[in-house]
Amino acid sequence: MNVGKWPGVIGRREKKGGHMRNARLTRCAGCGAEVPEESGPTHRYLESAPACWRIYTELLARDYTDPAYYEHHRLCVDAYAVQHPGRPSPQTLQSAAVHLVRLYMILEGGLPLAQANDFMKRFAERDKQSMHWLEPPQRRGELTVVDVAVAGDAAEHATLAWKWAASAWNAWSPHHPQIRQWAFAYL
Ligand SMILES: [Zn+2]
Repeated sequence: MNVGKWPGVIGRREKKGGHMRNARLTRCAGCGAEVPEESGPTHRYLESAPACWRIYTELLARDYTDPAYYEHHRLCVDAYAVQHPGRPSPQTLQSAAVHLVRLYMILEGGLPLAQANDFMKRFAERDKQSMHWLEPPQRRGELTVVDVAVAGDAAEHATLAWKWAASAWNAWSPHHPQIRQWAFAYL
């Protein structure tokens, strides 16, 4: 990977290279990724380790500056949100619900990524009373933002983003019937 361009991204390849040998690691309470222990900001309700949030914001910055990466931006946003569902509240339950429904629509319903934003806006405006808190799975997916952040180019980023999204969606399999029901009620 080009560490000169993305010096903050710390992924497994760097660890294998020995750069992380002396770093203290911690497990992200959201996605379970092993990340460097550091202080820093996190999202208001998508609870995570500071390093996990930092790696994600660096990933988003790359999405916004390179159209080739931006193509798969929504997959990353959905995957990250459902791997960091936070604690029960009206805001978090709606966030998890809309991101899970969108993952369903993209991965199983064939919703084109280009239409994913419009879908999200319309879906989020519907009657929110029908949504409720889904107890998050203990394991949130084999892949995390750390695995995707190490992509060396846009093609690899795309491949990893799809795998990340599928892995996050599959982790919520006990709730798939409810998520599909919410999607069908909308359609
Ligand atoms: Zn995390």
